[in-house]
Amino acid sequence: MSELCLECGGPGGQYNHTCEDCFRASTEPSKLPQVLKMKICLRCNYMVNPSTNQRVVEWEKGIEEVVRDALVLHKSAALRSLEIDRHERDDYLMDLRVGAGCDIMGLKFTQEHTSELRITYGVCNRCSRQYGNYYEAIIQLRGGRRSLSEEELDYAVGAVEKRVAGSGAENAFITRAERIHRGLDFYLGDKSLAKEIARELQHYFGGSYLESFSLVGRKDGKDVYRTTYLVRAPDYRAGDFVSYHNRIFLLEKAGEKSAAIYNLITGKSKTLKERELDKLKVIEGDVVEAVVVSISEKEAQLLDPVSYKTVSVLTPIPLTPGETVRVFRYEGGLYLVPTSYAKK
Ligand SMILES: [Zn+2]
Ligand SMILES: [Zn+2]
Repeated sequence: MSELCLECGGPGGQYNHTCEDCFRASTEPSKLPQVLKMKICLRCNYMVNPSTNQRVVEWEKGIEEVVRDALVLHKSAALRSLEIDRHERDDYLMDLRVGAGCDIMGLKFTQEHTSELRITYGVCNRCSRQYGNYYEAIIQLRGGRRSLSEEELDYAVGAVEKRVAGSGAENAFITRAERIHRGLDFYLGDKSLAKEIARELQHYFGGSYLESFSLVGRKDGKDVYRTTYLVRAPDYRAGDFVSYHNRIFLLEKAGEKSAAIYNLITGKSKTLKERELDKLKVIEGDVVEAVVVSISEKEAQLLDPVSYKTVSVLTPIPLTPGETVRVFRYEGGLYLVPTSYAKK
């Protein structure tokens, strides 16, 4: 049975007893105030919550958030779409044209609102801390007896910056980063993030990890501590040549509490446990190319490119005369290095 409209008396009364036309004419799906306000941080360009002074989102996204918050919907309406065009009059004033699509009782409504967005500026909590030299923790990365290489230092800086940028924590910022003798110091605004990063650095470099606290003062009746996370890289690293019980190995992997070493004569790998690591000694020598002169069983005669002497080498893989191979040259001996060896 079709109802009649209570407004016009025409057919169709399914929209609150009125027909579609009358329902549309009497319904306002959404309202938007004439004046909207937004605060932006001068330092980071994020929108700032004016009551807490915390940064929220980047200011472009902030406009949408301001509009969504201010938009008042008809009680039966669901927002379907929101389009915002902005025209900047100056740094403090923006004209907004907002297209709001709503659904009410299965009918689609499209409206256009115009508002002006008034902008104020300040500095968010995060930025005032970061530029106020605030930090909760220091990560110290050290190289032990050897200095960290440029590549290792660059890796560490990149890794820390990436982790800080990817964190949503309010105090996720680097107050400063300093290159110091044999290592790096990072001053970070967030203690728990600093700890996570320090652990990741230790996982990458191997070596030891140490936490220490120092009392820096009192705030609101509580002691305030600053934490230092010390990550000490081991004295050796993957790609080093090492001696272990007077035999020569290539260090394949340097872990936190173990290391994998490759015997250059037998071609066999071995994993060392923490207590055996003390016996590893890094040895200095050069990786050079040498020509295979002749071969006999398990042995090859190579021409030492430095001394021009023929040197017998035990090799885990068969070689052919005339072939050029890479060898580690140490105390007059030559040791065939695996083809996977890439360092230097
Ligand atoms: Zn009607
Ligand atoms: Zn800021």
